[in-house]
Formats: sequence, structure tokens, C-alpha cells
Amino acid sequence: MRMILFGPPGAGKGTQAARLLERFQVAHLSTGDMLRAAVKAGSELGQAAEGYMKRGELVPDQLVCDLVVERLGQPDCEKGFMLDGFPRTVPQAEALDQTLVRAGIALELVLVLEVPDALIVERITGRRSDPQTGAIYHLKFNPPPAEVADRVVQRADDTEEACRTRLAKYHAETTPVLPFYDAKGIVKRVDGVGTPDEVTARVIAAIA
Ligand code: AMP
Repeated sequence: MRMILFGPPGAGKGTQAARLLERFQVAHLSTGDMLRAAVKAGSELGQAAEGYMKRGELVPDQLVCDLVVERLGQPDCEKGFMLDGFPRTVPQAEALDQTLVRAGIALELVLVLEVPDALIVERITGRRSDPQTGAIYHLKFNPPPAEVADRVVQRADDTEEACRTRLAKYHAETTPVLPFYDAKGIVKRVDGVGTPDEVTARVIAAIA
């Protein structure tokens, strides 16, 4: 399977990706995760990306495209991949297309998780994760168990201000990517409102 998991910040891409990876043995390419790892490692890329990420802005296309193109060339992507959080701009979609054409492979699915803006801010500001396991929780909708509650952390860009910037970027720069894939007839839209289990059932049905 070669697919893109698409949707606004806080749509549940990370949560659904983790569930899908239990079923489909493909490589998971989350540019957000890769960039956060680069920031943590203090690499040149991480230093260049950190400010943009904290403000909720997009990291420049060239940096992200280089990262993804390099990653797609690694052997584990031969069995399939799930892109998560990429492409986020039309130039990124074009760079991806060129890379795939050169490699002689085609995307099979762009799965869009649809969640209204009004819900996104509540989802994002309440989001917490367990630094030890990577599990994602929500203070209200999916509270961490007592033994984990003391160690959960909030992402630096999960503040309300950065969230509103990220949402604005999504509508201005990321949704214009969709017509490109609509023209190829590979887009499926899934209602992302509901419990994680409800959404997973819809996602699996859409993939089937
Ligand atoms: P995410 O974990 O997907 O919400 O990404 C967190 C942050 O990383 C975003 O707000 C951007 O600053 C940066 N980022 C992740 N993916 C991309 C991308 N494809 N293009 C530009 N910036 C990105």
C-alpha cells in the first residue's frame, strides 16, 4: 500500500496511523515526527526547522522535500509507505510526484480525515503524549491512565495561538494540494469526528 494520510492538524492522523500500522506492514513517514527528531538531535535541519515549528508555520519546502525523498529511497519503503503530514503544499506534491514517477511507482490512495475547525482547537490544546511510549492522549476525550498522567507532555506547537496559525496554513496552503490528487481519482474522504475506534472503522472501510 502506498498512501497519504491527509487532514488538518489534530484530525487524528497520528492516532490512526499507529492503528493502521498494526494492520498494514508499511513504512510510516511522518514529517512532523522526523522534524521533531531532528530538533531533539540538534542537527542542522533541526536548528533550521525549530523556529517555524514553534510558531506553527510550515518549514520551507526544500528542507522537507529533501528529507522525504531521502527517506523514500530507504529499503523499508519498498514494501509500501504511509505519508503522514506530507505533502503540505503544492510544490511538495509536485516534488513527490516527480520522485515517484522517477522510481516508477504510483500512489494508490489519499485518505482525507475531515474534522471541522471548531473541534480542532479543543482537540489540539488538550493533546498530550507519553514521552516513553509515544502514546497520544487527550485530557478530556482520552485521559492518560494514572500511572502515566504525571509524565505526559504537551507539544511546543500545541498552544492555541500556534494551533490557529497551523489551521490557517492548512486551509491556505495544504488544501490546494487536493485537486491534484482528485484529478487522479485516488482521494477518499472520511469523517474524522467520533471516537478513535469509530474513525478507524471508517478508515479501514475506505481502504478496503
Ligand atoms: P505535524 O506533526 O504533522 O503536525 O507537524 C508539526 C510541524 O512540523 C508543522 O506545524 C510544521 O511546522 C512542520 N511540518 C511537518 N510536516 C511538514 C511539511 N510537510 N511541510 C512543512 N512543514 C512541516
